[in-house]
Amino acid sequence: MQFGNSDQDRSNVEDRRGSILSGTGGRLGLGGIIVLGILSLVFKQNLFDVVQGNPGTTTTQAPSEQVAERQAAEKPLERVAVGTFNDAQKFWGTTMQGRHRDAKLVLFWDETRSGCGEASSQTGPFYCPADERVYIDLGFYRELSRRFGAPGDFAQAYVIAHEVGHHVQNLLGLSERVQRLSQRDPSQRNALSVRLELQADCYAGVWGHSAAQRKMLEPGDVEEGLRAAAAVGDDRLQQMAGRRVAPESFTHGSAADRSRWFRTGFDRGTADACDTFSQR
Ligand SMILES: [Zn+2]
Repeated sequence: MQFGNSDQDRSNVEDRRGSILSGTGGRLGLGGIIVLGILSLVFKQNLFDVVQGNPGTTTTQAPSEQVAERQAAEKPLERVAVGTFNDAQKFWGTTMQGRHRDAKLVLFWDETRSGCGEASSQTGPFYCPADERVYIDLGFYRELSRRFGAPGDFAQAYVIAHEVGHHVQNLLGLSERVQRLSQRDPSQRNALSVRLELQADCYAGVWGHSAAQRKMLEPGDVEEGLRAAAAVGDDRLQQMAGRRVAPESFTHGSAADRSRWFRTGFDRGTADACDTFSQR
């Protein structure tokens, strides 16, 4: 993957690494308790757990030497995350013509506060519609490579492009519509969530198509993206957790569906190809 200098623009990056959340009092607002299950491990899109109000953040600084060292070690991962984030937003900005506004990318370690409640590295990268921010602890990329078996910079890019896809859904009013529908009929909640997630995968592919056209991809990149999309499929995650594969409990989609929708977006190169809601 070739980013040029798209990772140099830091205007939409909030680097909270080295800031430590202090104190546990009033940590979570009422109803803000987030259940940390295996399903929320990856790309937790916290649509349904929006915590109202801001409990206020107190931060202290970790020793600066350690921080600098750890940040330096993460530099290659940071380049991919920031480069993809900026490039994908620029892409959607031109595609959506006036309907786009930029989200922010929050880099954090271990835990931080979001408009959707407490964010922990345990839950994996996610997009919070309430504050229009993508949250990632770059340590997730090591997990993606080692535990989930999806190494490579384009696997990493896919993760960010998927989250930016959720931002696009939010701007288009799709997230809100899905939330309303699932409130009306809670039995459809998981199925609707899967469709929303698969659409974000497809949007990630649409961005990938544009990146390929602009000669940013290297041999093997597409395969890395497909492998990453499959690696975070609900069936894979349930198997990894030693659980029975239960399709009715899926919230993100199966490995096969996730990589198929990424591929669809990548091949077709247009958001119109991503109507996961009307297809079975
Ligand atoms: Zn998602």
